[in-house]
Amino acid sequence: MSALYQRARPINWDQVVGQEHVKDVLKAALEQGRVGHAYLFSGPRGVGKTTTARLIAMTANCTGPSPKPCGECESCLAVRNGSHPDVLEIDAASNNSVDDVRDLREKVALAAMRGGKKIYILDEAHMMSRAAFNALLKTLEEPPAHVIFILATTEPEKIIPTILSRCQHYRFRRLTPEEIAGKLADLAEREGVRAEPEALNLIGRLADGAMRDGESLLERMLAAGTAVTRVGVEEALGLPPGERVRGIAAALVQGDAGMALTGAAELYRAGFAARTIVEGLVAACAEALHAELGLEGAGLEGADVPRLLRLQAALDEQEARFARSADLLSLELALTHALLAADAGGAGGMVGAAAPASLPADVAQRLNRLEKEVASLRMSGTRPAPANEVPAFEPGKRRGGPAGEAPTRAETPTPAPAVAQGSWDDVVKAASMQLKAFIKTAQKHSEPGYVSLTYEARWKFHARQVMDKWDELSAHVLKVFGPVTLEVIPPEGQGRKAQLGGRGPDGGGGGPAPAVPFGTAAPLAQSRPTPELPAFEPAARSRASRGPAFAPLKTAPPERAAAPPLPTGAVTAPLDAPALRPAPPPSPDDVAPAPLPDAAPWEDQAAELPPPPADAQAGDRLPLPGASRELYLAEPITEEPDWEAIGGEVEGPVPTLEDAPFADAVPARPATTPRAEARPTAQAEAAPPTRPGDIRAHPMYEEIKKRFSGRVREIGKNRKPHASAASEESEGEDVEA
Ligand SMILES: [Zn+2]
Repeated sequence: MSALYQRARPINWDQVVGQEHVKDVLKAALEQGRVGHAYLFSGPRGVGKTTTARLIAMTANCTGPSPKPCGECESCLAVRNGSHPDVLEIDAASNNSVDDVRDLREKVALAAMRGGKKIYILDEAHMMSRAAFNALLKTLEEPPAHVIFILATTEPEKIIPTILSRCQHYRFRRLTPEEIAGKLADLAEREGVRAEPEALNLIGRLADGAMRDGESLLERMLAAGTAVTRVGVEEALGLPPGERVRGIAAALVQGDAGMALTGAAELYRAGFAARTIVEGLVAACAEALHAELGLEGAGLEGADVPRLLRLQAALDEQEARFARSADLLSLELALTHALLAADAGGAGGMVGAAAPASLPADVAQRLNRLEKEVASLRMSGTRPAPANEVPAFEPGKRRGGPAGEAPTRAETPTPAPAVAQGSWDDVVKAASMQLKAFIKTAQKHSEPGYVSLTYEARWKFHARQVMDKWDELSAHVLKVFGPVTLEVIPPEGQGRKAQLGGRGPDGGGGGPAPAVPFGTAAPLAQSRPTPELPAFEPAARSRASRGPAFAPLKTAPPERAAAPPLPTGAVTAPLDAPALRPAPPPSPDDVAPAPLPDAAPWEDQAAELPPPPADAQAGDRLPLPGASRELYLAEPITEEPDWEAIGGEVEGPVPTLEDAPFADAVPARPATTPRAEARPTAQAEAAPPTRPGDIRAHPMYEEIKKRFSGRVREIGKNRKPHASAASEESEGEDVEA
């Protein structure tokens, strides 16, 4: 009995925190002597399943006065210590063999040693093998009167239905932060340690609904022997100081980019991981949101619900970028995106409007450039810092957010990101074998509205190959990501970039290009005359080692020519310079990108497709699906090939030209003769009885067969086509008859 959570284990029903829906029912049933013979307790870990099971065991065997369990009689104490001979806790994870269960079944039949009930507590019951379950089932079907089975599991769906149907099933819920904080306050008092309510509330939130995690955390704090303070908890867990995180969140809410970026940079330099900082910001926004909605939580000055929703959603989305790189620049980009998203909302407060689709073109362009800067810096090997120097806090891992976060999410109207639905993995899956190989070596990047492949120097060849296969690549990308800007960035030389599926090149030239049509986001974007974005000055400190400083955003769209030069030379210069071309006038195709047909590209779809607009230009837009047919056109052979050059001397007569297209060279198969008569349609005549893989279709088949005659007589005998051809024939006969 050393760990705090063991000392803190309830010894009577009143000490159980929360779970009233379980506790009250069980208590009443036990008081009336209605004891079931099999229970199933399910729920997250650390919420009181085993504790409740032990309370049942104590109640059933208590010899003390009512109310039971008394917690003081010999039997109760034995159960607490785990030394009661009739209360058996079995870890199903390690005792899940059939033999274990058989052993258990034999012992179940024996009477209880102390004359009371025998209680079997099977922890992690879902870990039992199916055979073990079946063995146990026999016992559950005809349980001896003196036995109670209690199965505890975190994954009730893995318990086989026949077991489920024989158990009384109780679902345990996560505990609220207040419930956890309340119990921790009692514990701290019992241990004689002063604890700040704020610190306990923080632990309550971080415990993510699990009392045991909360108790373990508190124990860590108690080990120091001093008062439990919020600062102490943050330090012990490697969390950034709450006030500073809230300061940054407040700056974000007020649109003070300078303050937000400076504050974040300070925290980063103090050693906090970028992800931890952003997680803290998400939690702060969630808390402020609670405050705005009239729930418990600390508010942020100047906050309003729509803006908080947008900020929270954008920050949450930005967390994904730290999987690629978690340096300071990535952190700043995450905050920049969040700021822009919060500003881009306009009226309505729809989170969906936070998608970059509604950003002014010049801002989106600028962001893209910053992204590329990060990518090229990463490529050139000056990766500044690996992700996560600060160990992430484990128990309440879900971004350390308050447990009340879930309801908030549910209330959020449409938190789904508007664009990014696919991933490069999907593209790779869809691509041809060759293209797949060339994509695999690239650094793949995707974000709403922009995807890119970046190649290191050693994959120069692959970069070129991918650009050669641009049509195929862009078709797959469009299918997976929808309308996006696709860019291939080779290690040297010119890359290639184009907007797929919608309007032409990104940015649309110098003019105020109409917003890229993205469903509902478009009107919002168009209604914003000039972007009023907070100018931010991260260049206040030296960034020389990082690359070019980015100037404060101007409110007028910058001239294309005035765009700052890019760091690593020509990485983004478009091959066909589509950006210099004026945006084509709107055409029906621009309103909604022409959907790709589901059918395979080689199927003739041309007739169903609208004619390409007159102003269509190569490289400007994706070739219409029909146009990709030419990839599959076979050239007619007009000259005899140079056989010497192909494979040296050919023994025997050189195959004649008539042999060249395999289809015509197939020897007549005797079996097909009746079939041809049965179905004298044009189709039957045109299609010779050949299938891909049928070796008899090979021009050399007869020749080889002759040479090996007798030894491989039955070539292709087991092939399916043969059998199905036969069945087709019989079908044909049926029709005829
Ligand atoms: Zn007792």
